[in-house]
Amino acid sequence: MNAVPELLIDKAYVAGHWRDAERRFPVTDPATGEVLAEVPDLTAEDARAAVAAAEAAWPAWRRQTAKQRAALLRGWFERIMAHQDALARLMTREQGKPLAESLGEVAYGASFVEFYAEEAKRVAGETLPSHGADKRILVFREPIGVVAAITPWNFPLAMITRKCAPALAAGCPVVIKPAEATPLTALALARLAEDAGFPAGVINVVTASRPAEIGEVLTTDPRVRKVSFTGSTAVGKRLLTQCAGTVKKASMELGGNAPFIVFDDADLDAAVEGAVASKFRNSGQTCVCTNRLLVQAGVFDAFLDKLAARVAELRVGNGLEEGVVQGPLINQAAVDKVREHIADALAKGGRLVCGGEPHALGGTFFQPTVIGEVTDTMRVASEETFGPLAPVFRFERDEDAVAMANATEFGLAAYFYARDYRRIWRVMEGLEYGMVAVNEGMLSTELAPFGGVKESGLGREGSHHGLDEYTELKYVCVGGL
Ligand code: NAD
Repeated sequence: MNAVPELLIDKAYVAGHWRDAERRFPVTDPATGEVLAEVPDLTAEDARAAVAAAEAAWPAWRRQTAKQRAALLRGWFERIMAHQDALARLMTREQGKPLAESLGEVAYGASFVEFYAEEAKRVAGETLPSHGADKRILVFREPIGVVAAITPWNFPLAMITRKCAPALAAGCPVVIKPAEATPLTALALARLAEDAGFPAGVINVVTASRPAEIGEVLTTDPRVRKVSFTGSTAVGKRLLTQCAGTVKKASMELGGNAPFIVFDDADLDAAVEGAVASKFRNSGQTCVCTNRLLVQAGVFDAFLDKLAARVAELRVGNGLEEGVVQGPLINQAAVDKVREHIADALAKGGRLVCGGEPHALGGTFFQPTVIGEVTDTMRVASEETFGPLAPVFRFERDEDAVAMANATEFGLAAYFYARDYRRIWRVMEGLEYGMVAVNEGMLSTELAPFGGVKESGLGREGSHHGLDEYTELKYVCVGGL
């Protein structure tokens, strides 16, 4: 179990070179505390070198035909899938999620590369009816330029491909700043891209333990034309402010506070399965994770009993072990937040149904937890827990559920279970969210536009809409005809 993982690379990747640094920082396995590797701790100067490399690579990259770029993306996709086992093991080692989930993320992440390999050939412009008989209106879709991608630790592979595949397809070079907890998956991805034949400078990976220093360069250097960030709302707001100085285009995939509503006509068994998948996947460390379960009074007790029985079966342990469905949390700060939310809810009248404590395995393992009779005065009502805590609220009328669901500054994903079609339409239309899942607990796919409204973010990733984030429209008026 403790052998050096395949595809473990401990150098950053800038301008087509594997770069070392005097200062390095450790990457640890959250399940064991073992140091897996030390990677270069790059500086602002290195980040500027990566931006310069990307800028230098841009003219040739955008001149490649769409078909050539598509072939490179296809080659990258094939290499990712050929190495899916190695990538998944590496991801479980540095991030903690169960191996089956890591394999799922590799396939999900790779699907963006496959999709945008195909979509690269469809970045079409248009001609529009003109405003004069002697004029023509042409609209070109051009690559925006150097893209900076800043990504979180909870999906170390998919958050990178979801940004880079459309950027590369559009003809943009990228500088990736992976999360400091999970740089190894990013470096393995870069190695596979290098093997696929991407030219030097088109993909760069800047590893660093002090993200603000690198973020400052990526958001203020005028050569960077687009910043695509996934992470917390607090950091996203700061980066947006920094981007304002050079008026950069920005995509922000930020935090959520997802409601999961169970109406009294729902298939309760299906709802429990959906709730478990949506709440406890990745130990609750998913931006689209259910944060609040809202259950109608008539089925409240029945649902809670079924949920508690199902949650009690979830096996916690090292993600490399067979049958484990919940790994450790990423670090002690994550554990502390879950504990604070539980203590606050119980102090204000919540009823502990199961779990509630750090797991006997120690470290950052935590018991899957369910709390009933949760109310809107508790911190779990308004804050993202980002851990394995399912707080269950009671509601009476449909309109109450929709109002409770919308009573948050976030608007990423919402889920609900119901059968009556009129109710389904009313609720679907009433939810102020970028994504709504009806009778489904999982909604992410490369084929659909992923993203949030309100303080959950700006922009969309996936589907043909994901490409728009990396192109600019150029209107050309041809006159004198
Ligand atoms: P985070 O905001 O702490 O970090 C995200 C990335 O930003 C990391 O690479 C980090 O190094 C970097 N960063 C931190 N401070 C920075 C700064 N000052 N300048 C530049 N970069 C900086 O978030 P996290 O803890 O890694 O991820 C969890 C959060 O991400 C949750 O809120 C979750 O909801 C959100 N998330 C959202 C989505 C989505 O698609 N909407 C997906 C995954 C995670």
